[in-house]
Amino acid sequence: MIIVMKPRAKQDSILRIKNIIESHGLDAHISTGKQVTIIGVVGDKSKLQDLNLEIYEDVEKIVAVTESYKLANKKFHPDPSVVTVGNVKIGGGNFVIFSGPCAVESKDQLLATAHAIKKAGAHILRGGAYKPRTSPYSFQGLEEEGLKFMKEARDETGLPVVCEVTSLNAIEAAIKYVDMLQIGARNMQNFYLLKEAGKTGLPVLLKRGLSATIDEWLNAAEYIIAEGNPNVVLCERGIRTFETATRNTLDISAIPVIKEKSHLPIIVDPSHATGVRAYVKPLAKGALATGADGLMIETHPNPSCALSDGPQSLTFEQFENLTNELKPIADLIDRKL
Ligand code: PEP
Ligand code: MN
Repeated sequence: MIIVMKPRAKQDSILRIKNIIESHGLDAHISTGKQVTIIGVVGDKSKLQDLNLEIYEDVEKIVAVTESYKLANKKFHPDPSVVTVGNVKIGGGNFVIFSGPCAVESKDQLLATAHAIKKAGAHILRGGAYKPRTSPYSFQGLEEEGLKFMKEARDETGLPVVCEVTSLNAIEAAIKYVDMLQIGARNMQNFYLLKEAGKTGLPVLLKRGLSATIDEWLNAAEYIIAEGNPNVVLCERGIRTFETATRNTLDISAIPVIKEKSHLPIIVDPSHATGVRAYVKPLAKGALATGADGLMIETHPNPSCALSDGPQSLTFEQFENLTNELKPIADLIDRKL
C-alpha cells in the first residue's frame, strides 16, 4: 500500500501519516520526489484497514500494491534510482560498461585487462575470484588472492571493482577489497546470501536467475533493499529456454518490463546470455538501444587460453571496437557513455 501526498504537502502532514503507520507496528518509507512525496507501507496492512487515511490533511490518494515487492516497486519510488559505485553513477541517463575476465587468473592477466578496458572506455572492472562452476573439476577461482589482485587493479587504474560472492565467507573477504558485490544467477534465490549482502551496505549487482521470472527477480532485490540497502543494480544475463543455439536466451524484453515495474537500474550481460563471442556486439547494441543502463562484457588478454568462458570473451581489440560502435548509438538516444 502506498500513500500519495498532495503536491507541496506540509511536513507535519507527512509525519502525522508516518506516525500513524508506525504506531500500528508497520514500517513507513518516505520517498520525496520532485513533485510529490510518497509513503510506502511495509508490513501487515490489514492492521490499517479500519483507518480511513484518505481523510487526513494533504493525503491525495491511497494506492494498493498487488506485487509482493514494495521497496523495489516503481509505484513506491517513481523516480529512477541512481546507484553509486566508487566514483561511477549507474542509472539516471548514464550508460555504464562493466568489463573484465570471467575469472581472475593471475595478477598480470588482471592488470593487463584492467588497463586495456579502461583505455577502451569501460567504467568498472569485473573479475571472479569465487567461481560457481558447473563441474567441481573446473577452475574454482583464486579466492582471497584474486580479491587482492582486484584491489591492486583498482588502485592502479582508478576503476571501481566488482566480484561475485557465493558464500558468507566470500562476503566477509570481499568487503575488504571490492566496491560492489555480485550475486550470480545461481544464487539469485539464495535468500540468506541476499540478506547478508544487503547488510554490508555495499552496492549489489543482482543477476537474474537461470529460470527466474521478473517477479521472482524483483522479490530477490527486495530481500537486499529490506536490509536497509537500496543500492541494487539488476543484470539480465539470459534465461533458460528450449533454444540450444546460444548458451541462454537474452530476454531483451526484460529491459522495458523492469523499467515499467521498478526504479532500479538494469544492465545487460550479452556474454553469459549467448556464450558466443560473435553475438556479443549485436546484443550489446540492442541493449543500449532498448534502454538498458549499462553492459557487462567479458574480456581476456588471450581468450583461447582462458580458464573459464573463453568462447564468449572478447579480445581487447574486439572490446575497443565494440565501445567505439556504441558511441554513435548512445549519442543518438542521448545517453552519457
Ligand atoms: C559471471 O558473471 O561470472 C557469472 C558466473 O555469471 P552468471 O551468474 O550470470 O552465470
Ligand atoms: Mn563468465
